[in-house]
Amino acid sequence: MKTPPFEKFLEMDWEEIQPLYDDLEKEQLEEETLTAWMTGWSDLRKLVDERYARLSLATELDTTDEEAEKAYHAFLEEVYPKTQTADQKLKEKLLASGLVPDGMEIILKKMRTEADLFREENLPLMTEESKLGTQYNKIFGAQTIEWGGEELTLTQVKSAMLTTDRNERKQLWEMTSERQLADRDAINDLWVKFMGIRAQLAANAGFKDYRSFRWLQRLRLDYSPEDSKRFLAAVKQVAVPAATRVYQRYTKRLGIESVRPWDLLNNQTTFNLPAIQAFETEEEFIARVGAIFNKLDPVLGGYFNTMRESKLLDLMNRKGKGPGGFCTSFATVGLPFIFMNSVGRGSDLRVLFHESGHAFHVFERINLPYHHQWRPGLEFAEVASTTMELLAEPYLAEDRGGFMSVEDVAISRLLNLEEKLLFWPYMAVVVAFQHWVYENHQLGTDPAACDQKWAELIDQYMPAINWKGYEEVKQTGWHRKLHIHLAPFYYIEYGLASLGAFQIMAKAKKDQARALRDYLKALALGGTVTLPELYRAAGAELAFDTATLGEVVELIERDLAELEKKIS
Ligand SMILES: [Zn+2]
Repeated sequence: MKTPPFEKFLEMDWEEIQPLYDDLEKEQLEEETLTAWMTGWSDLRKLVDERYARLSLATELDTTDEEAEKAYHAFLEEVYPKTQTADQKLKEKLLASGLVPDGMEIILKKMRTEADLFREENLPLMTEESKLGTQYNKIFGAQTIEWGGEELTLTQVKSAMLTTDRNERKQLWEMTSERQLADRDAINDLWVKFMGIRAQLAANAGFKDYRSFRWLQRLRLDYSPEDSKRFLAAVKQVAVPAATRVYQRYTKRLGIESVRPWDLLNNQTTFNLPAIQAFETEEEFIARVGAIFNKLDPVLGGYFNTMRESKLLDLMNRKGKGPGGFCTSFATVGLPFIFMNSVGRGSDLRVLFHESGHAFHVFERINLPYHHQWRPGLEFAEVASTTMELLAEPYLAEDRGGFMSVEDVAISRLLNLEEKLLFWPYMAVVVAFQHWVYENHQLGTDPAACDQKWAELIDQYMPAINWKGYEEVKQTGWHRKLHIHLAPFYYIEYGLASLGAFQIMAKAKKDQARALRDYLKALALGGTVTLPELYRAAGAELAFDTATLGEVVELIERDLAELEKKIS
């Protein structure tokens, strides 16, 4: 089989693409032909991957470009699902052959798990589940409040909450909460349906409960629900007391008596006002961050420079651009692309460091022979990005050759470290809640019991936040955590990855060159080894225990104390 060049593939419809899959499907699979067959399949996957990435990106770069949207939707409707079905057939063919291509052991194990979980009768249930998800999104998408004669969406409320006027924050928060409580019954109804479908999905696949089914569906082959619970216990023991200390210092910083929900961003994070202005133009932004990566490591500096020269960075906010920030990649050429909505704030620097970590992963994994081997799973992908945030940030300061004042960098760093520390207790609430829900299916299906459990968990893991007078809002927090509804059990990944990144940071404090060498070596492994092996290669441990988390929390608290001294 000869794969077409990307420019040609971009124009091909399914009738033209199908023969490419058919050729692979028909070929006799033997030891001698295995490498060539795998390469052919891998090349085809790269074409599909890049077509998806480029079409999707085009709609994000200009949301008003109707042509781009048409092309993307046509691909999503007419081509992409068919490529996925055809790809599944090739997976089955490889599994049935009993052959194991070099470096594909772990990937095959995952493929086998997926094949074992597959049930024809679950397909309509999954469609049903994603339709419920759409309804969930619709309910939240329609929520707006009236503010200053204007109608604000929830996203706009978030920016409006960034005000020094505490009373204004309180009013905004109260109005939003009231608006959200009006949809309480609707969310509860959806929840009962979600739970029914999930129990059925698990039963059809021969599992006694949804959690054990879902665990495998998320391809968590290297840790168990028990490991996850050990991590929660560790969080309770060491991260919760440290978080309480952070909240106590925060009350002093704001000059308030106790932390109320309207003093936090996204339920858990502290913030600083006014925001720090860090740069004016994209050129300046790129040059400054490029200089920092160069200082950190010449390899990283080189990668970033390639991105600059090849125009793989689109960083500034502008009218018509889609929201958020992310790193995508062009598989046939093996290059990353970073998309952001910067406005010149200090926090934009952190986002670019983070996304660059993902981009470096793309550069490093390119030498793996097959596309199948690229993705390591989020538990490690986020180690790559978070580590870059942690290691690059200090170089912003003048005393480390940067362009920002020592105090401004100390403020940014403090907020970053606080956010990462405060995340663990909140993560624990979200994860513990789901353990409880699926261990107690009947109670877990009862919204009133869910309310009670959520409030209980908030008291256990986030005791420093004062909810007095707003008990109903507190209890229904699980309504507003979309992962619980749309992506069950998807959350601990961030907490584990963060713990991994801090371990690397601790190593870097002793020997940064060595820490970065290990980091790059681990990135280059893609998804070809197990998670514990990936962490170990990067100089860390995939850990769930109190001792490891305790050491990292101690390190964070020491750094926070140092940073506070630099802030007047
Ligand atoms: Zn990320």
